[in-house]
Amino acid sequence: MRRKIPGVRASLAVLVVGCVLPLASVAAFLIVDFYEREQAVLMENTVSRARAIMAVVDHGFESTASALQALATSHQLHDGDLKGFHERAVDVLDMIHADSIVLVDPSGALLLSTRRPYGTPLPRLRATPLLRRILQTGKPGVSDMFMGPIANQYVYTVGVPVRRDGAIVMSLNATWTPIRLHGVLAQQKLANTWRAAIIDSTGHIAARTHDNTRFVGKEVVPALLQRLRTSAEGVLEANTLDGIPVLTAYSRSSASGWSVALGIPVDELTRGFHRSLVWLIAGTVAALALGLVLAWRIGGGIARSMHALVEPARKVAGGGMAPLPQLEVREANEVALALHDAAAVVSDAQAGMRESEQRLALAVNAARMGIWVRDLVHGGIWVSDVWRELMGFTAEQEVTMSVFLERVHADDRAALMRTLYEAQEAGGGYQTEFRVQLPDGTQRWVGSHGSIECGSDGRARLARGVSFDITQRKQAELEAQHKQKEVMHLSRVAMLGELSGALAHELNQPLTAILSNAQAAQRFMRLPQPDLDEVRDILQDIIDEDQRAGEIILRLRRLFSNADMPRQAVELNELVSGVTVLLRNDLINHGVKLIVEPAPAGMAVSADPVQLQQVLVNLLMNACDAMADTQGERTVTVRAGLAEEGRADIAVSDCGSGVPQAMLERIFESFYTTKARGMGLGLSICRTIVKAHGGELRAENNPGQGATFHLVLPLQETQQP
Ligand code: ADP
Repeated sequence: MRRKIPGVRASLAVLVVGCVLPLASVAAFLIVDFYEREQAVLMENTVSRARAIMAVVDHGFESTASALQALATSHQLHDGDLKGFHERAVDVLDMIHADSIVLVDPSGALLLSTRRPYGTPLPRLRATPLLRRILQTGKPGVSDMFMGPIANQYVYTVGVPVRRDGAIVMSLNATWTPIRLHGVLAQQKLANTWRAAIIDSTGHIAARTHDNTRFVGKEVVPALLQRLRTSAEGVLEANTLDGIPVLTAYSRSSASGWSVALGIPVDELTRGFHRSLVWLIAGTVAALALGLVLAWRIGGGIARSMHALVEPARKVAGGGMAPLPQLEVREANEVALALHDAAAVVSDAQAGMRESEQRLALAVNAARMGIWVRDLVHGGIWVSDVWRELMGFTAEQEVTMSVFLERVHADDRAALMRTLYEAQEAGGGYQTEFRVQLPDGTQRWVGSHGSIECGSDGRARLARGVSFDITQRKQAELEAQHKQKEVMHLSRVAMLGELSGALAHELNQPLTAILSNAQAAQRFMRLPQPDLDEVRDILQDIIDEDQRAGEIILRLRRLFSNADMPRQAVELNELVSGVTVLLRNDLINHGVKLIVEPAPAGMAVSADPVQLQQVLVNLLMNACDAMADTQGERTVTVRAGLAEEGRADIAVSDCGSGVPQAMLERIFESFYTTKARGMGLGLSICRTIVKAHGGELRAENNPGQGATFHLVLPLQETQQP
C-alpha cells in the first residue's frame, strides 16, 4: 500500500504541535517543580511554627509547675493547716490564672479544691496516671485531658509532689479547662483558613481554632495519631475531623508529650498551582490555535503556489509555455522562473528533435528502409509503409508474425526463426539476411538489423529494427563469386602454361647440349679414324645432360605441386665449380671469360643442390646474353661470400647492357623478356626457387657497366654465428 504523503498544511500543523507541546511540557514541569519546592519550604516553616506554639504551651506548664512547687513548700501545708492552705491556694489561683488548685493524697482522694469551700466533701479521682507518675518520679508533670470530677467538664492539670521529711505525701495540682489553651491558639494570629489544634499526649484535642467546643476531648484523626506516636515532628496529608483535606505540620513536646498540629487546607495550597496550570493550559491552547491558524494560512499560500505551478509544468513537459502565475511564495516564484527557462530549453530541444526525426525519416525513406516494432509480450507488430512495400504487403493487410514468416523463403525460414529466438534469449542486437517470396512470384533478398529491449525483470519486451532490400548486393556478390571461380580457373590454366613454359625453358639448355654433343659425336664418327675415347666422353656428356633434364623435370613438378624438397648441405664453392663445369662449352661459345672469387672454405647453405644449380645456370646464361653486343672483353665474375646478417651471397656480375633502372623489379615477373626468343620465365622461376629456400634474389646495376644479381641464402644452421 502506498503511504499517504502529507500536504504542506498538515506538515506545518505537525510542526506547530511539535514545537508547542514540548514547550508546554517543560513549562508544566517547571511549575510543578516550583510548587513542590515552595510547598516544602512552607511546610518546613509551618513545622517551626507548630514547634513555637508548643513551646508557648510548655512554657505555661513549666511556669505553673514552678508556682505550684513554691506553694507546696508553704508552712500551712507543712504544718498540716489545710484550711489555711486553702486560703493561700485561692490567692495563688489568681496569680497563676488556673481554674482550680487541688490537693490529692497518694490514694487519689481529693483533700481540698479551690472550687469548693474548705471542708466540703470531695469526690475521689477516678484515674490518676499523673499522680502515679509524680509518686514514681518525684517530678512535676502534666496530665492529659480528663473529665474533672468537680467541674464535670474536660480539664487538664499540672501537678507537683509535696514532700514531708523527704517522702512524697501528696500531689499539688493546678487544673484548667481547655479554653485557656484555645486562647493560646487565638494569640498566634494564624491565617483564618488554617486548622490548628493542641493535642494531649494521648492524642485528644485540648484546643482547636475551629469548632473548639465540638471537638475538645475528641481523638485526632487516626493518620495523625499514628504519626504523633512515631515521630516528634513532621508533615502529613490527611483530612481534619470535620472532613477538610489539609496538609498538616505537627510538633510534639518531649517534656509534656503534648503536641501542636497546624493544618493548611490542601485547597489553599494548590490554588495557586491550579491557577498556574490553568494559565499554562490556556496559553498552550492559545499558542496551538494561533500556530495552527498560521500553519493553515501559510501552508495554504505555499500549497496554492505549488498548485499554480502544476499546469505550467505540464505545459512545459508538452513543449508549451504557460503565462507565469503571480505566486505568494518567493521560492515558488523562483521555480516558476526556472520553469520558464526550462520551457525555452525544452522547446529548443523538441525543435531539434523534430528536425533530427525528420532527417532520420528522410534518410530511412531515401535508403528505402522499412521500420518495424514488435511487442514481444503481447505479440503485436507495427510496420512502416516502406516495410510493407519491401515484403509485398498491401496497406490494408494485417501483419502478424506467422503471415510474415510465410512470406520468407522456405529455405531461409528455419534459420531466420533460429536467429530471432537466439536474439530474444541473449538480448542486444542482431543482423540477418533472408529471401522473401513476393506475391508476384519474384524473389527479393532482405537484410534486417534488429535490437531487443528488455524490461526491468530482464525479459525481452520489445524488438525493433530496420529491413532493407539487398537484392542488388546479393546479385553482385554472386557475380563476384562466379568471377572469382573463373579467375581461379584461369590462374590454374596460367600455371599450367607457366609449368610447360618452364619445362620448355629449363629443358632447352640440356637438350641443346645433348644435340650439340650428338652432332659432335657424328662429326667424330665420320672421320676415317674416329677417336673413340673422345666419342665415349661425348656420350657420357649426353648421358649426364639427359639425367640432369630428368631431374629438372622432377624438381619442377615438386616446385609447382608445393611438395617439400629434400634439402642438404650445399657448399658454395662446390656449387659454383659444378655449374662452371656444366657451362664450360656455353661460356666458350659466347666468348665469355669467367672469374670465380670463391667463398671461405666450408661455407654452406641448406638447399636442393639441383635447384640452386638451375638458378646459377640461369643467371650465368642471362649474363652471357646481356654481353652479346659487348665489344671488348666479356667477363662474368662469380663472387661467393658472406652477406649481411650472416647470410651467404653469390653475386653474378657481368659487363653487359645492364637493366633499365625502372625495370629492376619487373624483370622478375613471369613472361617479361626483351629477347626475341626469350620466354621471360627464367628469373621468375629462379626467384620462386630462392624464396622457397628462405632467401632472396635481387638485381642492381653496376656503377660502370652491366648488372649484378645477388643470390642471398641463409647459412646452414651450424655455420651461423
Ligand atoms: P628470358 O631470358 O627468357 O628473357 P628471364 O626471366 O631470364 O627471361 O629474363 C628476363 C629479362 O631480364 C631478359 O629478357 C632481359 O631483358 C633481362 N635480363 C636478365 N638478365 C640480365 C642481365 N644479366 N643483364 C641485363 N638484362 C638482363
